[in-house]
Amino acid sequence: MTSPLAGDLAALPDLLQTTRDYAVSVLAGLDDRPVARDPASVPAAPLPAEGAGTAGALAEFQRRWAPGFSGSAGPRYLGFVTGGTTPAALAGDWLTGTFDQNGSNRSGSSAAALEDETVGWLGEMFGLGAEHSGTFVSGATMSNLVGLAIAREWVGDRRGVSVARHGLAALGEIPVLSGAAHSSVFKSLSILGLGRDSLRPVATLPDREAVDVTALAAALEALDGSPAIVVANAGTVNTVDFDDLRAILALRERYPFWLHVDAAFGGFAALSPAHAHLVDGLAEADSVCVDLHKWLNVPYDGAVQFTRHRDLQVRVFQNAAAYLPPITGTPDHFHLTPENSRRLRALTAWFTLAAYGVAGHREIVTRAIDAAHHLGERLQAVPGVQLLAPVRLNVVCFAVPMDVTDLAQAVADSGEAFLTPTVYQGKPALRAAFSNWRTTRADADRVAGLLENLLP
Ligand SMILES: *Cc1c(COP(=O)(O)O)cnc(C)c1O
Repeated sequence: MTSPLAGDLAALPDLLQTTRDYAVSVLAGLDDRPVARDPASVPAAPLPAEGAGTAGALAEFQRRWAPGFSGSAGPRYLGFVTGGTTPAALAGDWLTGTFDQNGSNRSGSSAAALEDETVGWLGEMFGLGAEHSGTFVSGATMSNLVGLAIAREWVGDRRGVSVARHGLAALGEIPVLSGAAHSSVFKSLSILGLGRDSLRPVATLPDREAVDVTALAAALEALDGSPAIVVANAGTVNTVDFDDLRAILALRERYPFWLHVDAAFGGFAALSPAHAHLVDGLAEADSVCVDLHKWLNVPYDGAVQFTRHRDLQVRVFQNAAAYLPPITGTPDHFHLTPENSRRLRALTAWFTLAAYGVAGHREIVTRAIDAAHHLGERLQAVPGVQLLAPVRLNVVCFAVPMDVTDLAQAVADSGEAFLTPTVYQGKPALRAAFSNWRTTRADADRVAGLLENLLP
């Protein structure tokens, strides 16, 4: 063993203690760390020839890189849709690396069974039934990709072609219908060879991002019985709008289509008694995408992919080889997703669910919804500010009487909060998305006060 590695092995308990102490100081200082940092340039260092050992690496990280890291784990990082890490999820993350299990298969470890238990818990929490099986992936983009890959195989089946065996050329065009699809759906269609242009946008309801189901029915009717993929949205990023899943499901009696639901963060509406109706029907979707590094508050990266058609999933993703276990009974995870070897991502979710249960996670969800509504109410009283949609769940989308990029920059420069700009119905706007377990009404008040100060 080279000397820094041998030295580290001998000093392992001390090194872990030092790292732990540093992590504690980072979390204790979260309130003082600027919520966002200007990504100032750190000159690249040369490849270390000998290495400095863990203590040296930690010192260098603290000196060169840590100062530029944002406070995105804290309560006022409201850009994109950004969760945090609950204490239990952090403990689970440390142990994921500590045990370093390969979650790809069931040989020689019960790690894959822990993933099954976790997926079962999550399915139950989101109101899915026993017909849905699930697997962990790295994010909602991957979950959409996997769901749409299975959908592609299903359409092929209807036309007597296996895309998994014969490729896309044997199939021709597949129509994909959606109201206000997330950008990751277009990316998935590009990767899957269906093409971004295969998505045919369907009209949304007036002043809404929810699909107009009458227009969707007309688009399906025009396909003349040809099977299609419908991507329904359960929580759009701009205004957290929900398609009417029940009404879409009713169309399945007349038209053949695969229903994929992107419930990346909107799926968590199932936890709030006042909002659970928004995801009514989710259990009947063919595939469902839910992100976990957003509203479950596990660290990056983690999401879950659910489907009712595991047989087709195995057809697409199977990875058979002489040295790998054969596919019998419950398929190993490497027959279900793009990855082969993979991190045991389920452990962070397992820890947070074991620690806080449904009740604890319901509290996180309802507190975020409350904070969003509170900010919405405060902003409505600010002259010149206009909410572009009612606060439906956990996002406030608003127009301001100044350049939104300038305002977003001023918010970031203040170090107190972080918001991201968007365009909604042609209007430049700002979004404040609430999904961190630490966020309270007091944070919403601080953000409202900050915006009042910065606005003309
Ligand atoms: C965030 C999000 C995605 C993409 O999620 P990643 O985890 O960043 O891959 C997809 N769909 C919706 C609705 C989202 O909010």
